[in-house]
Amino acid sequence: MHKIVVASTNPGKLAELRAMLDLDIEWLGLGDFGVIPEVVEDGATFAENARKKALGYAEATGLWTIADDSGLEIDALGGQPGVKSARFSGEKIEGDQRGLLDHRNIAKVLELMKDISQEQRTARFICSLCLAMPGRVLAEVEGRFEGVISEKEIGDGGFGYDPIFFIPQMGKTAGQLSAETKNAISHRGQAIKKLQPILEELIEEQSF
Ligand code: IMP
Repeated sequence: MHKIVVASTNPGKLAELRAMLDLDIEWLGLGDFGVIPEVVEDGATFAENARKKALGYAEATGLWTIADDSGLEIDALGGQPGVKSARFSGEKIEGDQRGLLDHRNIAKVLELMKDISQEQRTARFICSLCLAMPGRVLAEVEGRFEGVISEKEIGDGGFGYDPIFFIPQMGKTAGQLSAETKNAISHRGQAIKKLQPILEELIEEQSF
């Protein structure tokens, strides 16, 4: 069976990709390998970070690797928090303490936005995905999810900025959506949907 690495130590992301990409592939996470040097996410864009991680971990594992980078871009803040979304209010925290940082990040956004009018609160989540083999990028896709920053937190589902990301057509924040509904329309869901046919074609073209 074909093997593809999902360049993440986050079991949630691995499960999400595995569930959404309907392909006969053996999915591996970075946890399935020994010690792998961490690729630093210091790119200026989501696409740059995804590419850097995909190429770096493909080189380290010798296998086809998918990496993602995502975040929130708020127009009134000149695109912030952008590539700094995870660590907008301080150092990035993984695991159980992650919720704490999410709350601090949300508080910082709401404070910075307190005098911004309703019309100027537009924002979007962006997800860049990159598939690479050692030394070569095979595919790059991007998904976007448009919304508006609410004035307070609503809903306790999802993660990150979901409770302040209001989707006007649904009359709800992303924090009020079920995982299925969110995946169907989110930036990550759209990027994965774009990657699926490309991946199918690549697998057919080159037996790896
Ligand atoms: P990373 O992809 O773990 O490097 O971090 C992306 C950061 O962007 C997350 O920690 C969240 O703060 C934010 N983010 C990305 N996607 C979403 C989403 O679907 N909902 C809420 N926040 C998100």
